Amino acid sequence: MAEIIHPLRRSVSRGLSGHCPACGRGRLFWKYLKVNERCEVCDTDLARYPADDGPAYVTILLIGHLVVAPMLFFPIVWRSNPSYSLPIILSALTVATLLLLPRVKGGWVGLMYALGVKDSDAHLHTADLAD
Ligand SMILES: [Zn+2]
Repeated sequence: MAEIIHPLRRSVSRGLSGHCPACGRGRLFWKYLKVNERCEVCDTDLARYPADDGPAYVTILLIGHLVVAPMLFFPIVWRSNPSYSLPIILSALTVATLLLLPRVKGGWVGLMYALGVKDSDAHLHTADLAD
């Protein structure tokens, strides 16, 4: 079990808003999903917190459970002509995913910051020991 070394809620909420989890003022990203090497305000090393595929999994989980599954309860989705409804639904899902992904990644980096997990902890992955 990872030990929380920084306030969890504060770190994650700062990351969710796209800001440095340490100070909350510096920008976390320099491009859409590219994390700044260091915070421009407090000089925290932001690049050492791994994100890997975690944000993508969480985004898929959220979109799938909070948007796709509830959407299937509406009869209009089933009764409409797929040639009209499918492009609209897929476009909306794409936009929702693209809007959510950087926020989730920011929250993920904030979580890694709060837990003190760094890239150098990669040797601790138990899946690598399964051979
Ligand atoms: Zn900072």
